[in-house]
Amino acid sequence: MRSTQNNQRRPAVFLDKDGTLIHDVPYNVNPALIRFLPGTREAIQCLHEAGFQLVVITNQSGVARGYFAEADLVQVEEHLRRRFEAWGARLAGFFYCPHHPDGSVPIYRTRCVCRKPEPGLLFSAADELNIDLSRSWFVGDILDDVEAGRRAGCRTVLVNTGGETEWVITPRRLPHYITDDLARAARLITSTPATGRAVTEAAWAG
Ligand SMILES: [Mg+2]
Ligand SMILES: [Zn+2]
Repeated sequence: MRSTQNNQRRPAVFLDKDGTLIHDVPYNVNPALIRFLPGTREAIQCLHEAGFQLVVITNQSGVARGYFAEADLVQVEEHLRRRFEAWGARLAGFFYCPHHPDGSVPIYRTRCVCRKPEPGLLFSAADELNIDLSRSWFVGDILDDVEAGRRAGCRTVLVNTGGETEWVITPRRLPHYITDDLARAARLITSTPATGRAVTEAAWAG
C-alpha cells in the first residue's frame, strides 16, 4: 500500500507567507492589505509549470495571542488561492500553526509540534497531499523556515528580504541556498536536478 503511494508522490515547494510571498504586515488578516513581493508571480508560474505542488506553511500566532480568530485565516487563504489561479497556477494547500506557548487564548496556548521551526506542518501536508518530501523544497525568509524544511528532509532556500535579524547558523539552520527574491529562488529550484546528491554547503545564488 505504502509503496504504491510512494510511486505517485509528487514534489512540492513549501512557501512561507509573510516576508516570502507577501510583504510582512504583522498579524494582518485583511485581504485588502496583502501586497505580493516582487517576483512572486513569476516564481509561482515557474514552479507550477515545473510540476511542483505549491503549499503555504505559515505560523499564525495571532490566533493564540487573541489578535484574530482562526476563521479569519480563511479569507487570507482564499485571497492567495484566487491570485494563484489568476496566474495560471494552483495553491495545493494552506497549512498554519495557530499556537504559541505564551498565547492569551487558552486552547491555543501550547508548545506544539507545528509551529516552525518544528516540521509538523510539513509532515501533515505530505500525508494529506501525497508529497515526496525528499524531492521537495522549503522557501522562507528566516532561519526557522530553513530549520523546519531541513528537519522534514527538504532542501531549503532562504529568500533574504530582511526578515531574519539574528543569523545564528547551526547545521540544521544552514540554508542550502540564499537568494534575494522569490523569482531567483524558483529559477534555482527548477534548474537543480531532483535526484542530485544532497547539497551540504550553502551557496550564494545572486
Ligand atoms: Mg516569514
Ligand atoms: Zn502549532
